[in-house]
Amino acid sequence: MTTSVRRVIIIGAGAAGLAAARRLREHGIIPIVLEARDRVGGRVHSVPFPDKGCMLNLGASIVHGAEGNPLTAAIEAAPDISMIPFASNVVIPRPGAPPMSVDDSNRFIEAEAEALESLRPPANPKQGGDSIADLIHPALAQVAAKYGIEAELMRCNIDAIVSQYADDLDKVSSRQLFDVGEFEGGDYMVLGGIWGALHAFAGDAVVSSVRLNHEVTHITHSGADVRVRTRQHGELSADAVLVTVPLGVLKAGDIAFEPPLSTRRQQAIARQGFGVLDLALLEFSEVFWPAEADYLVTLRPSDVTDPAVLNDLLPRDAVPFVSYTTVMDRPLMLCFLNAGLGVQLEECTDEEVAGLFERHLKRYFPHASSTRPVRCRISRWLKDPYAHGSFSYFSVGGDGLGNISALAAPCLVAGGASSDISSPIQADQDHPSNAPALFWAGEHTHELYYATVPGAMLSGQRAADEILAHFGQLPL
Ligand SMILES: Cc1cc2nc3c(=O)[nH]c(=O)nc-3n(C[C@H](O)[C@H](O)[C@H](O)COP(=O)(O)OP(=O)(O)OC[C@H]3O[C@@H](n4cnc5c(N)ncnc54)[C@H](O)[C@@H]3O)c2cc1C
Repeated sequence: MTTSVRRVIIIGAGAAGLAAARRLREHGIIPIVLEARDRVGGRVHSVPFPDKGCMLNLGASIVHGAEGNPLTAAIEAAPDISMIPFASNVVIPRPGAPPMSVDDSNRFIEAEAEALESLRPPANPKQGGDSIADLIHPALAQVAAKYGIEAELMRCNIDAIVSQYADDLDKVSSRQLFDVGEFEGGDYMVLGGIWGALHAFAGDAVVSSVRLNHEVTHITHSGADVRVRTRQHGELSADAVLVTVPLGVLKAGDIAFEPPLSTRRQQAIARQGFGVLDLALLEFSEVFWPAEADYLVTLRPSDVTDPAVLNDLLPRDAVPFVSYTTVMDRPLMLCFLNAGLGVQLEECTDEEVAGLFERHLKRYFPHASSTRPVRCRISRWLKDPYAHGSFSYFSVGGDGLGNISALAAPCLVAGGASSDISSPIQADQDHPSNAPALFWAGEHTHELYYATVPGAMLSGQRAADEILAHFGQLPL
């Protein structure tokens, strides 16, 4: 068989699917990429906001660490896209109180980072597993005492890091603090939209080849090839299929597998966390917040007890914002709607959300002439039928890394049952390269950079290499 007749289908055109398609093409295989939505990019979703001249993100929006990050390389290769480091933080400690200065705010945020860095795996883990909340609160209290910072403010502010985990810190395993890779070099805003960078990385040929509006409903891998059924366009078959749909889609059981997936994989799908982070893009008539801030956070300490005030506040101890004023000179902000706040606001219209922000911000900036957004757009990742949430995390008590290894393992059919092989597959592994096989990628399958765009990109490249090795075209 010549290499050109190897048929590969990739399901999903997000960062993982696009990276895999690019890699396969580099090795002479032109895959068919099926995408359920009417757009490419998945959870990388850049939109013109507030007008065509400005691309902001409703999904991934920050580069976490630049060095060695494949997303950095993609941004550098893309025209009109740039990365700006976060420099100035502003903490607004309570409604009606003046914002802390940038210097004090930076010290406050650095103290919190010091508390996080000081954490070590507990010598005597709790029965049922420790959460991040279990570990972090004692460390915060120590750091607050060391630097003379009000401990209650530090307790509130830790709520802001929920945006990294997409669920409340008492639900996230403390293992996620230790079993994770980090690129060096701080956090960066991306100007011009992350989609432009991913598009430049994947290339026009890959992006224009994606078959949009192809929602996959069934995958059968028991015969001579793998058959993929779509809701709109019938059935296709291939020698290998790469599944990159989000963990939320696998959890929802939206794709039927025949034979059923292995018990180990089904358990990993059920046990790995998949949480909610939404974003609100906000345009105001003028800048009423400290114009020098790149990052702002409003806090709600427990001494705020006036029901009239509490009724006006968004229901989180910390509500974090990115301000684009320093870099674009426009009254634009992005707000992270963490966990339950995202779930709640997804039920509201954009108009209602604008009203909630108006009241919340008026409590923190009482002298502003208007805090009502003139434009507001929020993401709705939980309601999105092709995501069912935002990204994966390690649940308390679960085996996060073990789950990733189960989710990443390719599978073949042996004796009528789905059988997983370890990932990455070995070139000399005893498996017939003609057997139809299922491969897996997506942020939830990367053992170091899960929950991120670079993790998804790297998982797609790994899965493409596995497919090539399976076909005997690339020794691993
Ligand atoms: C609000 C938010 C903020 C984030 N912030 C950051 C950040 O700042 N930095 C960062 O690095 N990462 C961030 N992430 C995470 C990052 O966006 C993801 O990890 C990454 O984009 C996932 O890529 P993927 O290819 O694994 O999945 P996806 O991008 O979800 O791609 C999977 C594709 O499969 C398609 N699909 C689903 N079901 C079917 C079906 N049945 N048939 C066919 N196709 C289907 C989907 O439509 C989608 O296009 C954020 C995510 C969210 C939601």
